[in-house]
Amino acid sequence: MIISQVVNTVFNSCSYVISRGDASWMVDCGDVDRIVPLLHGRLQGVLLTHAHFDHIYGLNHLMAMFPDVPVFTNRDGREGLLSDKLNFSRYHEKPFILNSPGNIRLVEDGQSFDLFENYSVKAIYTPGHSPGCVTWVTGDAIFTGDSYIPGVKTVTILPHSDKEMAASSEDLIRSMVNGRQVYPGHPSQLQ
Ligand SMILES: [Zn+2]
Repeated sequence: MIISQVVNTVFNSCSYVISRGDASWMVDCGDVDRIVPLLHGRLQGVLLTHAHFDHIYGLNHLMAMFPDVPVFTNRDGREGLLSDKLNFSRYHEKPFILNSPGNIRLVEDGQSFDLFENYSVKAIYTPGHSPGCVTWVTGDAIFTGDSYIPGVKTVTILPHSDKEMAASSEDLIRSMVNGRQVYPGHPSQLQ
């Protein structure tokens, strides 16, 4: 399995490609022109860490290329994908709303599914930075979005952020790291 990182042009958010054999998954979606060349074979889906615009702004471009690709998030994430106010893009130069809500797949807290044969991912809700934050946990990797960026204080001053929830989510994530490689939503200051 190969995990590739793109540090995007908008706010240095990170998108990832997880590939094995002739299949790939993405975590978050920024600069599509830089992400797509990293895909190996068929794109199976996008795992969203949260629906702030710097993590989702490439999705309409991606779906123009891959119209059927499912996007996995939770109920709050769905709301963010469909509201330029909630995802904050309204206050940026390019407002973003997902064109194809039919591609959204809702995941419950603790839900697992297979990314590849014998390699599953589990969705863990980690609200606080935003209500819809999801941390994605695999056997050897953990994709934390903006809920936990090693060496960086979690941002909780945004509208809809919750400082106490963010702190308990961060504790939960730390307990799940357990030797796994952390792939955060922005570059870690510890690397
Ligand atoms: Zn964020």
